[in-house]
Amino acid sequence: MDFQFTDDQRLWNETVHRFMDREVGREYTREHDQSREFPEGAYRKIAKQGWLGLLVPERYGGVDADPVMYAIFCEAIAKFSLDFAACVMTSMFTATNISSSGTDEQREQYLPGFLAGERKFSIAISEPGAGSDAAGVSTRARLDSDTDEWVLDGNKVFCSGAHLPGATIAVLARTGDERHRGLSLILVPNDTPGVDVRKMNTIVRRSLGTTEIFFSDVRVPRTNIIGEPGQGWQIAGQHLEYERLSLAASYVGNARTALDDTIEYTKGRTQFGRPLSSFQVLKHRMAENECHVEAARLLVYNAATKMARGERAMKEVSMAKVFAADTAFQTSFNGMQALGGYAQLPEYDMERYFREAKHAMVGGGANEIQRSIIAKEMGL
Ligand SMILES: Cc1cc2nc3c(=O)[nH]c(=O)nc-3n(C[C@H](O)[C@H](O)[C@H](O)COP(=O)(O)OP(=O)(O)OC[C@H]3O[C@@H](n4cnc5c(N)ncnc54)[C@H](O)[C@@H]3O)c2cc1C
Repeated sequence: MDFQFTDDQRLWNETVHRFMDREVGREYTREHDQSREFPEGAYRKIAKQGWLGLLVPERYGGVDADPVMYAIFCEAIAKFSLDFAACVMTSMFTATNISSSGTDEQREQYLPGFLAGERKFSIAISEPGAGSDAAGVSTRARLDSDTDEWVLDGNKVFCSGAHLPGATIAVLARTGDERHRGLSLILVPNDTPGVDVRKMNTIVRRSLGTTEIFFSDVRVPRTNIIGEPGQGWQIAGQHLEYERLSLAASYVGNARTALDDTIEYTKGRTQFGRPLSSFQVLKHRMAENECHVEAARLLVYNAATKMARGERAMKEVSMAKVFAADTAFQTSFNGMQALGGYAQLPEYDMERYFREAKHAMVGGGANEIQRSIIAKEMGL
């Protein structure tokens, strides 16, 4: 058993961190959180590096990275902001659905533009009545055989990035009555007539942007379905391990920064003639957070290594996700306390880490759902 990165992995880790420090930076992510604008400039730079293709096979123009390399990437791009990482990661999953389950025509239509940074995707699963119970979606898609089109009606919520210019929404819609096998994944460009996308005023994902979508008699060609009718649940679930792994890795990356910022601040701030970092209560909190951040990282790379061996890692990925989410929250929560009143100011970044870490406990499958998955895998 070796807990160290290989030379290639270490080099990759340094490369992405250096890129984030030089080409993105914490001020940039803070400004975009404040302005609620998509970080288009940095996104294009990432596209230029070829990194949007990490999960796309080489034959379709991607890099075909393994799960460990992908986790390293996600940990590093989240160092200043989970929101920024989500801006990059969200489109990558739908691109994976298209590369693995789409037709050659769909790959030709969507992948080159995505890899160039010009075309983005949003995934629309959640609905007012279907959150954790994602298979309970009621948005309907019926086939109009006269026009050979899918006709969609319904309402989605919390769909990140669906409003972005040129975004295509992968909509999980009901095409049959069976709970899981009655669901299909259909590509809907956001400028299709009948699509009404409204931004939601969330306290997180401010630069990516999260939306509510209303579909009213929306028509798209029959060929816009990914895979066959009834395969939507299976296809959307194909990347679930990757998605949760990437989220867990990003939580670790951001928790590390929250802790480093706390250490730096408490060393520099003097009260009662001593640096805050010399008070035992603060030292112990930071020491405990250090244990948790390191443990979360080991859970992430344990899950990634198992996936890279081609083994099923459902339990390990959920363990990494729930532990890393709690760690990011606890670390930024302690950071908020350690920075005192200054934690309330955006320029200290801690309030942003704190907000985003709270969302980590819900997004991508809430903590309770992750614990249920772990329990099920334990035979409970
Ligand atoms: C900023 C943001 C961005 C998002 N982006 C997207 C996106 O891009 N696409 C998308 O489709 N969705 C997205 N979501 C939706 C997200 O996936 C859901 O919020 C999440 O799945 C939880 O669903 P819910 O909010 O309806 O909560 P609910 O399902 O109503 O859950 C509320 C609480 O009850 C608990 N609970 C529910 N069921 C159980 C159970 N069986 N056992 C124990 N506890 C349970 C939950 O864990 C949670 O604590 C986003 C959400 C937010 C806030």
